[in-house]
Order: sequence, then structure tokens, then C-alpha cells
Amino acid sequence: MKITFLGTGAAEGIPALNCPCPHCTRARREGGRLVRHRNAILFSLPGYELLLDTPPDIRELLARYQIHRIEGIFLTHAHHDHTGGLEEFLYWRKDLDLFVEPQVYESLRRENWGDRLPDIAFHCPIHPGMAVRFDGFFFTPFAVHHTIPCFGLAIYEGGRKVVYTSDTSNRFSNYAYRLMAEADLLIVNTPRFTGPHEGHITSTEAVALKKRVGARRLALTHFNHNNRTHDSLEKWAQGLDGVIIAYDGLEIEV
Ligand SMILES: [Zn+2]
Ligand SMILES: [Zn+2]
Repeated sequence: MKITFLGTGAAEGIPALNCPCPHCTRARREGGRLVRHRNAILFSLPGYELLLDTPPDIRELLARYQIHRIEGIFLTHAHHDHTGGLEEFLYWRKDLDLFVEPQVYESLRRENWGDRLPDIAFHCPIHPGMAVRFDGFFFTPFAVHHTIPCFGLAIYEGGRKVVYTSDTSNRFSNYAYRLMAEADLLIVNTPRFTGPHEGHITSTEAVALKKRVGARRLALTHFNHNNRTHDSLEKWAQGLDGVIIAYDGLEIEV
């Protein structure tokens, strides 16, 4: 499967609005990989393009990377940086499936535009631990610990396993650890580089997680301006085994 990181920033994106910090200042001046839009990943599966999350930046990202095909959307949780762009799909010209856990769907529906959700997509309710089976691949959502109900995703295709942990604290169920075990690619959202961060695992903790579960490769994403800059993260990752620093537009083949 091909994985395209469309947006790799945390809630505020980089540069953050009117933020004078050195990271945001450099991003504004130099652009390139220092700039991060909010979280969106496209999983290209056999005959099915699955978009994970619809951040407020989604319209710009789909245009920039010329994405003209999406069959389904998987929403991890109802935070604005992950779902704020869902309404853009009122203008998507084809039918879409919407894989969302019922409680998360309900909280999206309570938004003032929520009654138009059925116009956007066909709701396919998902529950943690179920296998959503397709011909040739399947995926299994699992619950993670975040500030609101949130779901990660294990995707199985062609004997390969990719696990995306979504926004999560560094505390997992034994079930989640089992799903992550020996993943070919583990993708973890780490807004900050180190040290305690409520509701979120950090970059250094994610490296320990990779080791613990025996994942072959680890891709870090969903960075905020308190984390190191992209070039400095890349330098750090060179000294580690199988750690990839995602950037907007990165493609990984698994
Ligand atoms: Zn987030
Ligand atoms: Zn969140």
C-alpha cells in the first residue's frame, strides 16, 4: 500500500498564527518542510483510497497534491484539527463512505451543519476491535487514550500491517499493544519532542514504543511548533533505527 502524508502538523499547524517563536519565524521565512498543515493521511489500498481525517486545511491539501479519487474517509476523533474540514466534502463530486464510531458521529452531528452529514457521505459505523473487511485487505479500529473518545487504525494488506495510533497518550490497552506488535510501519502523532504532555505521547516516547512492540519502521507526524524543526528532527532520526520524520507530501510504500 502507498501512504501519503498530506498534513503533518498538530492543532495549530506550523507556522502557528501570529506566533513569534524561532520555529514559526523560520517556517514563515524558509517554507518547505518547515511548514506543516494539520493532520491528514491518504492510504492507497487495492481499489480503495482511504482518507484519514479531514482537517480545516483539507481543501488546499487535496488541490495541492491533486487528489481526485477518494472512496472513504476514516475520522479518528471530533477535535477541530482532525474534522474541521469535513464540510468541504459537500463539494466533492462523488459518493463517499464515512467510517466513524457512532459516538464521534453524534458529536459531529451536533455541529450546526450536522444535519447535512448524510449529504456528505454514507455513514458506515465502526466499533473498536471489528474487522472492516474488503476484498484483499481489512482494517481494525482500536480505542486509544486521548482527551475525548479517539480511535487508531490497524490496516492489513498483502501480508503487511500498518498501525496508526492517532492522537493518544503514552498509555495503551493490552489489545492495542497486540495490534501494534511487529507492525511493518507504526505511525504515531507526537506534537512535542519530549516530556510530559497531557493527552499526547512525545517523539522520544514513540521511539521507545517502537522498540517495545518490535515495529520495523516508525513514522512520526502531527508535530507542533514546540517540537524541533524538521531538519533537526531528521538529524536526530539518523542516529536511530528505522525512524522516519514525516513532512507534508511524504509518500511511503509498505
Ligand atoms: Zn490533533
Ligand atoms: Zn486530538
